[in-house]
Amino acid sequence: MITLRLILGDQLNINHSWFDEKHENVSYVMMEMRQETDYVKHHIQKIVAFFSAMRQFSDELKDKGFEVIYFNINDTENQQSLEKNIKGLIEKHGFEKFEYQLPDEYRLDEILSNLTRDINIKSEVYDSEHFLSKRNDLSDFFKGKKQFIMEYFYRDMRKKYDLLMEDGNPEGGKWNFDQKNRNKWKNETPIPNISLQVTNVSSILKEIQEAEIKTFGAIDAQNFYWPTSRKQALAILDFFCLEQLPHFGTYQDAMHTDEWYLFHSRLSFAMNSKLLHPLEVVKKSIETFRENPEIDIAQIEGFVRQIIGWREYMRGIYWKFMPEYALKNELENYNPLPDFYWTGNTKMNCLKQSIGQSLKHAYAHHIQRLMITGNFALLTQCNPTEVDAWYLGVYIDAIEWVEITNTRGMSQYADGGIVATKPYISSANYIKKMSNYCDGCQYNHKEKTTENACPFNSLYWNFLDDKKHHFENNNRMGMMLNLLKKIPSEDLKKIKQKAKHIIAHIEEY
Ligand code: FAD
Ligand code: SF4
Repeated sequence: MITLRLILGDQLNINHSWFDEKHENVSYVMMEMRQETDYVKHHIQKIVAFFSAMRQFSDELKDKGFEVIYFNINDTENQQSLEKNIKGLIEKHGFEKFEYQLPDEYRLDEILSNLTRDINIKSEVYDSEHFLSKRNDLSDFFKGKKQFIMEYFYRDMRKKYDLLMEDGNPEGGKWNFDQKNRNKWKNETPIPNISLQVTNVSSILKEIQEAEIKTFGAIDAQNFYWPTSRKQALAILDFFCLEQLPHFGTYQDAMHTDEWYLFHSRLSFAMNSKLLHPLEVVKKSIETFRENPEIDIAQIEGFVRQIIGWREYMRGIYWKFMPEYALKNELENYNPLPDFYWTGNTKMNCLKQSIGQSLKHAYAHHIQRLMITGNFALLTQCNPTEVDAWYLGVYIDAIEWVEITNTRGMSQYADGGIVATKPYISSANYIKKMSNYCDGCQYNHKEKTTENACPFNSLYWNFLDDKKHHFENNNRMGMMLNLLKKIPSEDLKKIKQKAKHIIAHIEEY
């Protein structure tokens, strides 16, 4: 049977069983499409990274002798829609069977299942062979439970895959070493500098410009440093294991004006596009830990938790709660996202740094995303749909299954506490503790209501007061709400006036 197999842009897994052997009658199709570039406004580096990785993947398959049909973004035959392109190919080449791998996004899942109903040839769907859990594993694991606590899911994954386990118990005697992982970075441990294998992506950039795709953010096209081939991705993994892993956990939450990734791996794009498999990343890092006794268990446990814990958990949450999840707004937040999220043009140094770096590199690490940009959007009660669109556009690794669960769920509490047991909010205190941002800021991190008081401080108490009815039955919020009650009413009135002024004049701050 003449078969057409679809490879989506984030299915670049050369070790997939599809490629174990060549079949005479099988052709593969890959497509750059406006359908994918235009559903949200993306950072230019994100589109370039996907196109570059897809083209290299297609070349690799062709070199191995596979038959690949590739639609470039400006090809005249490209109808810019998955459905139309597939139907066109079936008609043109007389394919008798259509096969695809399970997509990670609900939107594409719908498109593909509708398509298979529409075309009157046989179709078959395969697992993407990437994740360590199936779409419904999380749902089954928490069946009958009211809360979806990540920690329990993570422990189960550790046991299932026998990772960092000793005779059925967690290695080091504990499942979690988070208390050890909260240091500020003060230049005492130099940040290792990788000489990245860069790619010249000028011609791809030119094609994107010719196609007039709307993008934002900066790019150095001649020295593009995101890994877009498996070889480059493996080099970054090696670098991470040898140079960054020894301090990964310790400085996981730290932020600094001079450093944009500190000890974070920057492997998210490589994993989300499936150039790397999560299990190979985890196994390689554990192997490095075993070979280097000076690496503390807290470092490796922190890293493994992110990948087999948070990453798999978020995917499970996505498939359990979509499509309703994408509309959740439990805290009823409707303010627009400030314009400065798109420019970095703000006097608040923490936001200026985190947004500026996101626009420059299409990257911010977890705590910048959660406790700076996410925190501020929540405190100013921004509409989660606008917040989602920004996160989905700006980050190199942003694919809906992992973006929306982190943004709408973990960061904006718009899911009402499915992912996070309490909202991740803070005043300037936390930002001062974990970064050097406040040192170079024109606002005073200690003040609440004075003219140059840090906006986070009044916004924090105002948020708690405005939203307290949502948290009445939340034990984890008890302490915060008790502190709120202790603020004399006159003081609270001034704090709220200040916060309302900030929200109304947000672009001036
Ligand atoms: P490291 O800090 O080195 O961590 C290693 C790996 O662990 C990451 O590559 C990632 O695969 C995984 N990981 C860590 N934290 C998480 C998490 N919370 N959820 C899922 N996987 C995790 N991650 C994305 O991949 N895509 C997104 O669109 C995305 N959006 C986010 C939005 C918000 C508001 C927040 C708070 C977090 C978001 N994250 C997202 C999670 C996390 O911030 C990124 O995975 C991480 O910053 C990527 O950088 P890194 O590879 O250097 O990560
Ligand atoms: Fe951010 Fe406030 Fe610190 Fe300025 S003082 S960097 S606005 S937390």
